Amino acid sequence: MSVTDARPANRTVFRTCPLCEASCGLEITLKRTAAGPEEVIRIRGDREDVFSQGYICPKGSTLKQLHEDPDRVRTPLIKRDGVFVAVTWTEAFEEVERLLLPILERDGRDACAVYVGNPNAHNLAGMLYNKAVLRALGSTNIFSASTVDQRPKEISSALMFGGVLNVPVPDVDRTDHLLMLGANPYASNGSLATAPDWPGRIERLTGRGGKLVVVDPRRSRTAEAASEWVAIRPGADGYLLMAMVQVLFAEGLVDLGPLGELVTGLDEVEALSAPFTPEVVADVTGLEAHTIRRMARELAAAPTACVYGRIGTTTVEFGTLTSWLVDVLNVLTGNLDRPGGAMFTTAAAGASNTRGKRRFGREIRLHRRTSRVRGLPETMGELPAVALAEEIDTPGPGQVRALLTVAGNPVLSTPNAARLDAALGGLEAMVSVDIYVNETTRHADVILPSPSALQKGHYDIALLQLALRDTANYSEPVLPLEDGELSEWEVLARLALVLQGAGPEADPAIVDDLMIGSMVQGSVADETSAIFGREPEEILEELAPRSGPERIVDFLLRTGPYGEGFGADPDGVSLDVLLAHPHGIDYGALKARLPDVLRTPDGMIALAPAMLAADVARLQEGLTRRRDHRFVLVGRRNLRSNNSWMHNVKVLVKGKSQCTMHLHPDDAVTLGLADGEWARVRSRVGEVTVVVEVTDAIRPGVVSIPHGWGHDMEGVQLGVAREHSGVNSNLLSDETLFDPISGNAVLNGIPVEVVAARGG
Ligand code: SF4
Repeated sequence: MSVTDARPANRTVFRTCPLCEASCGLEITLKRTAAGPEEVIRIRGDREDVFSQGYICPKGSTLKQLHEDPDRVRTPLIKRDGVFVAVTWTEAFEEVERLLLPILERDGRDACAVYVGNPNAHNLAGMLYNKAVLRALGSTNIFSASTVDQRPKEISSALMFGGVLNVPVPDVDRTDHLLMLGANPYASNGSLATAPDWPGRIERLTGRGGKLVVVDPRRSRTAEAASEWVAIRPGADGYLLMAMVQVLFAEGLVDLGPLGELVTGLDEVEALSAPFTPEVVADVTGLEAHTIRRMARELAAAPTACVYGRIGTTTVEFGTLTSWLVDVLNVLTGNLDRPGGAMFTTAAAGASNTRGKRRFGREIRLHRRTSRVRGLPETMGELPAVALAEEIDTPGPGQVRALLTVAGNPVLSTPNAARLDAALGGLEAMVSVDIYVNETTRHADVILPSPSALQKGHYDIALLQLALRDTANYSEPVLPLEDGELSEWEVLARLALVLQGAGPEADPAIVDDLMIGSMVQGSVADETSAIFGREPEEILEELAPRSGPERIVDFLLRTGPYGEGFGADPDGVSLDVLLAHPHGIDYGALKARLPDVLRTPDGMIALAPAMLAADVARLQEGLTRRRDHRFVLVGRRNLRSNNSWMHNVKVLVKGKSQCTMHLHPDDAVTLGLADGEWARVRSRVGEVTVVVEVTDAIRPGVVSIPHGWGHDMEGVQLGVAREHSGVNSNLLSDETLFDPISGNAVLNGIPVEVVAARGG
């Protein structure tokens, strides 16, 4: 810095961590360097953040390492003779045009599939502009991480309450009794239940005399902190919950309270549950009948209670049924929509349950078409990820010949990874929007990089709709784009324009203006909107001179439930107001929202949606199925890991390997395996050799390997991750196993054989 430079040497900024669903506030200190650009010198929890109040996990402070990672792709790459070379943006988009348009012209739009990865849910530009890309492409072969994750919960919520994101969240801060299934927020900090510091929230729950019951085949860190651990067999949560429903009816414990006026299908649920007595499900769940009965009675007797299920309840063969039963129990015990129960968030921006006509909505349509090869069902406009490989490697009319991935790594995160990996190698063209040359993008012909998280503005449009408290927080970019970098929304907008045939140099503002224009048009025509009847030009003028995601966020905030309504409420929120509140705005604890929050055709809660009621027969058939496999495989999470993409951060992978196979001591004796030795694990589709960690924190007969590992593949340019490769658990997961309602992959409860692998 020159002596005449008056700028301060250090400055501190505040932003929301975009790495997981917890949405913690960060305090970031930057230092000017002699050369001019700023450098992040410290990241810690923002003690004044209205939601997280200083909480941070080990990942949060690694935004600096992610930004500075020498392996992060900073310029567009094109593959020439099998090697990636750096090119200009124009050259990259020209290459996209050259590769994709002839295929689309020759074979139709469906010839190019899309895979959208999980980080898009945490990413403002991805949330807003991926839609433009998908619309421009016009393919029906859309796949995403949602069908290896939460799709069952989205469907059960849509069918019961009339909205994909009408997901009731557990009011952990006020409940007396939390029944948690297949979730480990000590490691993953809550999911479909946005909140920082789940450990603190749980400790306060038990500290005030509340009870936490954790149902999980593993004694996870959360289970260790719980009042009770219920070690269920993997994939059997649906049976447990249905038996609890049966007990509530049989013992006269059903008490809907005021919800009684709003519910249809109560008698049907009673009839559906009747065969599933605790004694009937004892074998399949591995639980004593009296335990199930006691759990039901305790749930009903608690002053307030909520049931919450997560990944272990969705990535199973009865995923949608199980997700539905979670909320059936919340309704039957009168705990839906009351403090301490399961409640609906009132998000400040972008929530469809705060827009349009209250209480009533259109019928949810599922299974409108099926995949080409196996006839798997469409849900929410997407096909199941378990169908992706076969759509590529099965010849015939309609075969997928090109792929576009956006921040996704399906080679590590979807079932039968070896088949998908081979299929990607046979594509005619592949384009990826990504920050790494990883296990998936190494197959790409073109990589279009987005900037690091520190270079992007952030507002959690999706996750704040699922928050345990009503808050709003906007983060400006912390660091500027460097020479040759393009903001992410511009990358996506230009990609959309290329796919539309507008050429590689078309102005991304065209897409941006169209998007905001159509939002404004829709809002001025909506008689429930604060700007109903206003002139669109007047609204657009007020939004200028902002552009890109910031303009859209400003619009969504101003027309949202706390919004200033473009002058209608001077005390309301806008982007300017949020910018003046760098620690966010707290709108308080969750509020009762029924019946207005509903968007069902009849304005009622559908306790027994026809599609789910019909699927109960499959649950019943499952009771008599033979389950004689010696071992089943489940996944697990680690606080220092985030699916597949953060293993190139040294501080997160150093020390003892996270990618081990948990094995119960009794099973270790039977197999002749000791801690640290190698086991060979085989499933119908593949085999891995993995280091064993003997622990009694798992049910006998169950083994656990975390997903997202296996970085030692040729061509992967992740120096640190390759040194801590681990094994890819999705070499074992089976693409023929899925939940037929949601198409969601089965990632928990996969039958495997385990033997000792002497010599490693
Ligand atoms: S829990 Fe960690 S990764 Fe998740 S938002 Fe908070 S700091 Fe970021």
